[in-house]
Amino acid sequence: CGIVGYVGAKPAEGVVIEGLRRLEYRGYDSAGIALVDGGTIVSDKRAGKLANLEKAIADAPLPQVTTGIGHTRWATHGPPTDRNAHPHLGRERRVALVHNGIIENFAGLRQRLESEGVEMASDTDTEVAAHLLEEQLETGVDLTVAMQNVCRDLAGAFTLVAVDSQDPDRVVAARRNSPLVVGIGEGENFLGSDVAAFIEHTREAMELGQDQVVTITREGVSVSGFDGTPAEGRRYHVDWDLSA
Ligand code: GLU
Repeated sequence: CGIVGYVGAKPAEGVVIEGLRRLEYRGYDSAGIALVDGGTIVSDKRAGKLANLEKAIADAPLPQVTTGIGHTRWATHGPPTDRNAHPHLGRERRVALVHNGIIENFAGLRQRLESEGVEMASDTDTEVAAHLLEEQLETGVDLTVAMQNVCRDLAGAFTLVAVDSQDPDRVVAARRNSPLVVGIGEGENFLGSDVAAFIEHTREAMELGQDQVVTITREGVSVSGFDGTPAEGRRYHVDWDLSA
């Protein structure tokens, strides 16, 4: 339901949790976060209010790293439980992924992955995409190309945001029939399901077109189609009055 992504210089945990709080108004049943710590994904996710996640993090602190993604879930496939909360990880725990929307052709993809020995850790439509991304990465492409390749095989409505533990300074997102905006900062960049996710940090935003993939690093933002052709997002300034 709500999505946040961050890469920059600040502790990602704070940016992600604040962003999720700003997105709470949309309604949700679970919340989760994943951070990239060197070569490892560190993640926590909980059914219920954001406060449940915050308590879990207070009890088992996360590393203070500067790349992360977060999610508030409105369950469509699988009940609102800890295991179905996002992020979902690939089987090697190399990829962490959050998703808004519905992957309509997940059942066939799931069957194919299971026949190849992948054990599903959730009941969601989302999890297949985490495994597919990892499968792509294993062929040697980077997360951006992996996302393009995976998205061409997905049907439905989706905003996807993913990180690769082996490429800690990159966050990659994609959208089809589901919202995704980029927040453009100085030495830091943001992703959100709406601008509320990053409005405290920057008012420079970029809207993406249909069927596009965006890669953010500390230094920049690059956009392409699902077929890999370079594209441009539409830049705009957000002039909300936050005190209102
Ligand atoms: N379909 C996904 C799920 O049920 C994502 C739902 C959402 O948009 O939050 O987990």
